Amino acid sequence: MSGLKVLSVVSEIYPLIKTGGLADVAGALPGALAAQDVEMRTVVPGYPSVMAALEEHHVVVELAELWGGRARILAARAKGLDLFVVDAPHLYARPGNPYHAPDGTDWQDNPFRFAALSWVAAQIGLGSVPDFVPQVVHLHDWQTGLTAAHLTYDGRRRPGIVITIHNLAFQGQYPASMLQGLGLPWYSFGMDGVEYYGNIGFLKAGLQFADRITTVSPTYAHEILSPECGMGMEGLLKARISVLSGILNGIDDTVWDPATDPLLPVHYSAAEPLGRLAAKAELRKRFLLDEKAQGPVFGVVSRLSDQKGLDMVLEALDTILAVDGQFVLLGSGDKELTAGFHRAAAVHPGRIGCVIGYDEALAHLIQAGSDALLVPSRFEPCGLTQLCALRYGAVPIVTRVGGLADTIIDANEMAIDAGVGTGLVVAPTTTEALEEAILRAARLYADEETWSKIVGAAMKCDVSWSRSAGRYAKLYRDLVKERTS
Ligand code: ADP
Repeated sequence: MSGLKVLSVVSEIYPLIKTGGLADVAGALPGALAAQDVEMRTVVPGYPSVMAALEEHHVVVELAELWGGRARILAARAKGLDLFVVDAPHLYARPGNPYHAPDGTDWQDNPFRFAALSWVAAQIGLGSVPDFVPQVVHLHDWQTGLTAAHLTYDGRRRPGIVITIHNLAFQGQYPASMLQGLGLPWYSFGMDGVEYYGNIGFLKAGLQFADRITTVSPTYAHEILSPECGMGMEGLLKARISVLSGILNGIDDTVWDPATDPLLPVHYSAAEPLGRLAAKAELRKRFLLDEKAQGPVFGVVSRLSDQKGLDMVLEALDTILAVDGQFVLLGSGDKELTAGFHRAAAVHPGRIGCVIGYDEALAHLIQAGSDALLVPSRFEPCGLTQLCALRYGAVPIVTRVGGLADTIIDANEMAIDAGVGTGLVVAPTTTEALEEAILRAARLYADEETWSKIVGAAMKCDVSWSRSAGRYAKLYRDLVKERTS
């Protein structure tokens, strides 16, 4: 097996900058692929938190002009990651979130910020850093889609292109009048180029030009071919079905390991699960929940958005209270949902608690201390929180969509007997079905032996990257072979 060079291109990467699962995947994949003899380096924007984390770096390319200012491409190492950092302060040296201003609105110049990232990535892909000339460029989501267009329109021999859709809901569409400003040639504006319903589509460009398209679960790869889930892209995706596949995400099982997790008050494992009780006590303390409730503690760690189905959780809170359960939530996003959960916590102190914000440590404590984790998404490309829940022994209660359907086996009677039931599957995606699942969870929880069987089966699941890293490595190698033959 010969070492393969792959350039990953992404707008966020854990542990340097993260708003969601995309960063987790980008951060974990290079390490997992190293075991497959794939050398992956990642191109990222030089946000303040990225620049501050650089341990060693040197300039590999100086650019007198990159979308309105001077820029440098740095080859760097940070927290175990091999990076190319686009150091362009006029584009990336801003506080807060990679995509939004502190007031929550998109940065006005987002199309140019990510056009710049994509253009730089294409240059590296085409060999501008002789030290690292990739055989494959792996793009993630809309922010990097234009890389595929630049690589193709350049006309020189290009590396293979893979694009992974982490969430089709975000497509990066901008007015046609921006074509020149985005550095695209006039002839790119057509159906077989970057044009998408009269606009310029960043993700569309990626899907159009990539040699392979992947999604982060096999079920989502199938679902997005339908008008209900395809978000307008189903026609293009159907046309490209022969190169479309799904590869499940894993989680970094060194970061998410209840036996060693420095963010937990106590450690435990599948063989020694007792530590969960101490974590639950700590969790109740943090959310000021009383200790007398006999039902399960249900937890949520999530972006607060329509996708995640948390409006159904709000409606189902009475059912949780009816089974003498408790509820904790950590999340941020939608204002109405925030207000709803605040209200519920104010009306039911000691039973319902919520923290609005982003808190890595608290996310770990919720996974360790909750009895069950609710993930009732309307659609879910893969989902990582249910994988963390499996690893930490919080029984996932999930809707039967996307990656949730691919990763959780419903604990029906036969599955429990066979020792393979790892969670509860809610179908259809309705409040009533969620309420039924909560009632079922409470019944199972009351039978200690059965519940610990489910927890045990959950904790034994392999949620690591190893299998999926092998699949990506094979995808890259097949692609390289195809392009050289
Ligand atoms: P998505 O990427 O759609 O938001 P995923 O389940 O794929 O959802 O990934 C979410 C990741 O972000 C998980 O690692 C989860 O633990 C983390 N996360 C989500 N919300 C928060 C929060 N408020 N605080 C800390 N971590 C969070």
